Amino acid sequence: MATSNRPQSSGSKAVSSTKPLSSKSPKAALKAFFNSAPARKLKEQMCEMGRRQWQREYVDANGGNMAIRVGTDIALCTPASVSKGFMKPEDMCLVDFDGNQLAGDKPRTSEILMHLEMMKRQPRAMATCHCHPPYATGFAIAGMVPPRRMIPEYEIYATVAAAPYHTPGQPEMGRLIADLVGEHNTILMVNHGVVSWSHLDIEDAYFKMEIIEAYCRTLLVTAQLGVTPKKIAPEFVVELLKRKKGLDIPDPRYRWTKDELAKPEWFPGRKEKC
Ligand SMILES: [Zn+2]
Repeated sequence: MATSNRPQSSGSKAVSSTKPLSSKSPKAALKAFFNSAPARKLKEQMCEMGRRQWQREYVDANGGNMAIRVGTDIALCTPASVSKGFMKPEDMCLVDFDGNQLAGDKPRTSEILMHLEMMKRQPRAMATCHCHPPYATGFAIAGMVPPRRMIPEYEIYATVAAAPYHTPGQPEMGRLIADLVGEHNTILMVNHGVVSWSHLDIEDAYFKMEIIEAYCRTLLVTAQLGVTPKKIAPEFVVELLKRKKGLDIPDPRYRWTKDELAKPEWFPGRKEKC
C-alpha cells in the first residue's frame, strides 16, 4: 500500500488564469495559449503518458487517446493516427467542447467526443485517458466489473462501472460513458477498452489505467489458484472509503451500510458468489 495519500503524480495541474480561456476567446489569445510554455508542459505530459502506455502495452498501433481541460469549454488532446508511444508536443491539438479543432497541425483524435462529453457531464474532470489494456479490456468484453474488496489501492483510487458498446467516435458512445462519470472515475467500455478521468491531472488519469489493469491481472492469477479468495472485511472497507472521500474521489458506496458493503460478489472462475 502506498504510504502517501495517493500515487505520487509529477504532473502539474491544468493551466489556470484569472479569466479562463473559452471557445469564445479571441483567436489570437487561443493561439498564444496553444504556443505558450504552460501549454507546452501539458503537451509534454501527454507525450510522456503515451510512452508509458505504449511501453506497458496498454495501446496498440494508433489506439488510445487523451485530453486535458484547459478552459471553460476547450481542451488539449492527442492527434489521430499517431502511436501513443511516439508522439511529439507539436502533434497535439486544441478543440472546443463540440470537437471543433481550434489549433494544431494534425487532425484531433476521432474519439474526442467521448472525452468532451465526460468533461461536460463531470465538471471536476481535468483530464481523461483512454487505452486498451488487455486484462481490463478482457473484463470489459465479458461485460463484468471486477469484484471489490481484494486490494486497498483499488478500493481507494478506482471506482469502476461498465458502459455498453457503441461505435467509437460517435456522440452516443460519449453519452453512454458520460452517464456513469458522476460516481465512477474508471469506465470499462464493453467490447472496446477503458476510459478514466481525474480531478487532478493527466498523470493521475493514467494511474487509473495502471490500477485497474494490475487489479484485473491479479484477480485472474488468484482465480487460477482455485480457492475461495479472502476479502477485506467491511469494517476495513469503511476505513478505506473514509480515506477515499478525503481524496475527493467519487464512490456510490459512501451511502452504503456495513451489511451492504459485505454483500457477496461474483469472482472469476467460481460458480458461487464470494
Ligand atoms: Zn479506443
